[in-house]
Formats: sequence, structure tokens, C-alpha cells
Amino acid sequence: MTKPIIAIVGKPNVGKSTIFNRIIGERVSIVEDTPGITRDRIYSSGEWLTHDFNLIDTGGIDLGDEPFQKQIRAQAEVAIDESDVIIFMVNGREGVTQADEMVARILYKSNKPVVLAVNKIDNPEMRSDIYDFYSLGFGEPFPISGSHGLGLGDLLDEAAKHFPTNEDPDYDDETIRLSLIGRPNVGKSSLINAILGEERVIVSPIAGTTRDAIDTLYTVDDQEYVLIDTAGMRKKGKVYESTEKYSVLRALKAIERSNVVLVVIDAEEGIIEQDKKVAGYAHEAGKAIVIVVNKWDTVEKDSKTMKKFEEKVRDNFQFLDYAPIAFVSALEKSRLKTLFPLIQMADENHRKRVQSSTLNEVITDAVAMNPTPTDNGRRLNIFYATQVAIQPPTFVVFVNDAELMHFSYKRFLENRIRDAFGFEGTPVHLISRKRN
Ligand code: GDP
Ligand code: GDP
Repeated sequence: MTKPIIAIVGKPNVGKSTIFNRIIGERVSIVEDTPGITRDRIYSSGEWLTHDFNLIDTGGIDLGDEPFQKQIRAQAEVAIDESDVIIFMVNGREGVTQADEMVARILYKSNKPVVLAVNKIDNPEMRSDIYDFYSLGFGEPFPISGSHGLGLGDLLDEAAKHFPTNEDPDYDDETIRLSLIGRPNVGKSSLINAILGEERVIVSPIAGTTRDAIDTLYTVDDQEYVLIDTAGMRKKGKVYESTEKYSVLRALKAIERSNVVLVVIDAEEGIIEQDKKVAGYAHEAGKAIVIVVNKWDTVEKDSKTMKKFEEKVRDNFQFLDYAPIAFVSALEKSRLKTLFPLIQMADENHRKRVQSSTLNEVITDAVAMNPTPTDNGRRLNIFYATQVAIQPPTFVVFVNDAELMHFSYKRFLENRIRDAFGFEGTPVHLISRKRN
């Protein structure tokens, strides 16, 4: 199921990123602190009371040195193209400005629902300041304060009234939902064409359509796959498409709908910082991952080349130490058949359930081998562990005091669980909980 998407637009300094961070804040803090993962995000999932949605801060779309008007126009276009509901944000301390009117004119022309938020209304006395904003033509203005977290519930309730009924096609649970991510020009489109052109691959004539994405259904050796969001890789010819933030936004939307993500890198160009960022998002989303080194045809090889390249990949993607690596050439359509077994394995492990009894034996053995840490004379006590979720496999370990579960010990337990059950291709999450 795809979550509805809310985009925030408005001229600079009205408080878009403050609100964005406030709404997603709680979620980010529970995300693992993984080196190499950027924090300057513009897209995230959010929860507010009973609402579950994704949020875009269009203020992060930056066209570099382009003039103000062009920037704002691009941001509004991203909101119109990528979201279901738009929160149009203005500054309650300033009154209506020309820039607000400009944004309003762009939004009028779209068919998207718009909710008007008047920010910086930090106390009730200021509420009368919002009436001017009726003139923008979007109905009732909602007073909020990003600094104080006021009014957000009412605003999001209003936005939620406009959420579309779920239009995401339902696929069979056994179907592997697959996406390819990577920075521009690593060969994602070429790879998709090469995969779909493989002899054993039978492409279904029916494609599922959701919002602006077109899914391709295909079968390999009786396994059904859906390739997510290939339409997103087709270019719309808009000015914002070349920005890095926008390509990350597209990737995140595709990642979210996937079970397995292929992180594509370019053997010819090597690995750069942007590759790590993109891969970090897939990791953070808890998806099964296969690293695909494309353009393998461009590399001059001897017997050690692959091993050396693999070391380089491992070095650069330390947080993806569980992901298998495939070396392929989309251009020569070579080695593609090495890819399917890895995808299948990663998917199987991603949805694997283990028995509690075996899990607890593994934990007991691990503790016998490497005693639990102590802090100020207090020792971590592990009572019991159980798997609480799949996709990704998630384990809860009940302990006497969760604070005593240090990162390194958690990592050790994760690795023992991996060794015992074989979770290649999938992240595993381990949560410690105090037992009452
Ligand atoms: P953006 O450019 O629209 O993303 O705006 P920012 O979120 O960066 O906020 C711009 C400035 O307004 C910052 O200095 C914020 O601290 C401030 N700000 C944001 N929300 C509020 C608010 O509710 N009340 C007040 N007084 N200041 C705010
Ligand atoms: P995308 O932006 O990631 O979708 O990348 P494209 O599929 O558009 O490919 C970018 C460029 O890389 C194109 O010129 C392709 O022909 C080229 N390319 C893609 N795959 C390979 C490959 O395996 N080997 C070589 N030598 N070039 C490739």
C-alpha cells in the first residue's frame, strides 16, 4: 500500500523545514545512526495521530544560482507533480506578500487539493493575524507554530480529508517487488531493458498503474516480479529533474514500494559519495538489497579484478555488509543470470521467520561465548528474544535494562543471529526492551 504524499510549499523562511522536521522528528530519532547517511532530507514518512503519510519539503529542491522566481516555480511544480495534497505555507508575521501570491497562482492551476497553513502564530493572541490570508483564495487558513508545535494536528486532519482512496494495485504477497536505484547514468534504464529482454523473462502485457508510476510485471522461472516505477525514470523534461534532491525523492518513492532494491553502481566511474547516500536510504528503509556493479565490460580484468572491486565496494558500503554483489553489463547483456538467484535469496531472507526456541539457543550460546557488558557494576541480563516482524526480520530482546545494551554488543548479537540463520541480503533489526 502506498502512503499518501503531502508536499509543503511556500517561499523561503516561512518555516517549511521547521515543520517538516517537527512532523518527522520522532521517526528520525528511532532510525539507526548509520555513518554515511545524510540527514538533510526532504522526504520522509510521518505519522501524526492516526494519519500515516509521506512528507516532502519542496524547499530543499535547489536549482543552484537560478533566480528566485524560477526556484519557487520549480518547488511548486514538484509539489503538484509528486504529491496528493499540498500544504501551502505562509508567514503569519508578514501578511500576504507578492511571493505568496505568485505561489498561489501556480497552485490555482493544479487540480491538487491545497491546505493553507499560516505559520509563526506562536500564541493565541496572534490568531487574528490569519484572516488576511483568506485573500489567497484557498479557504480557511490554519494557524500553526513550528517553533511550538501548535496547530499541527488540525492542519494534518484537514490534509487527511483530501487523501486519495488507495489506488495502489495489490500484488500477490509472493510477488517480488523490485526497484533499481542509483545516481544518474549508472545504467538503471539500460539494466531494466536488459533484464526484461532476457530470454527466460516473460513480461506480462498488463502493467499496473499507480499515480505517475507504471509497474511492469514479469516472470522468471515461475517467480513473479513487479518492477516498480520504471516510468519515473522516463524524463518529463522539467527543470527540477537534474537536481540531486529530486532524484533522491524519486528513488525514495520507489524504495518504499519495494521488497528488494538493486543498488546500481558504475564500474567505469567507480563509487562516489552520492552512491553511498542513495544506498543508505535503501538500508534505512529496511529493504532487501543486492548491489549491482554495472558496466563490468569497461573494466580490464585479470583473475583478481573482481575480488579487488568487491573489496572496494565493501570498503565504501560498510553498512551494507549483508548485501550480495553482482557484476553485470547491461550493454553486453552479460552475467545478468547471476542476478536473479541473488534477488530471490535476498527476498527469501527478508521474509524469513525463525523459531523462537532456536533463536534463544543462539542467544544463549552467544552470551556464553561473549559475556554481556557491564556498566557501573551492573550487568546486562538477557531474558528472552523473539522475532516480532519480517521484511526486514526484526527481533526484540527482553533485558533488565535497555541502556546496558551497547552498540557493539548489539552488533555482536546481530552477527550471531546472521551466522546462525543466514540473513544474506537483508538488514536485521534488533530492539532491546526492558522486561517489566
Ligand atoms: P523554510 O525556509 O521555509 O524551510 O524556513 P525554516 O524552517 O528554515 O524557518 C525559517 C526561520 O523561521 C527559522 O529561523 C525558524 O526558526 C523560524 N521559524 C520557523 N517556524 C517558526 C514559528 O512557528 N515561529 C517563529 N517565531 N519562528 C519560526
Ligand atoms: P540511468 O540514468 O541510470 O538510467 O542510465 P542509462 O541506462 O541511461 O545509461 C547511461 C549511459 O551508460 C548510457 O550511455 C548507456 O549506454 C551506458 N551504459 C549502460 N549500461 C552500460 C554497460 O553495462 N556498459 C557500458 N559500457 N555502458 C553502459
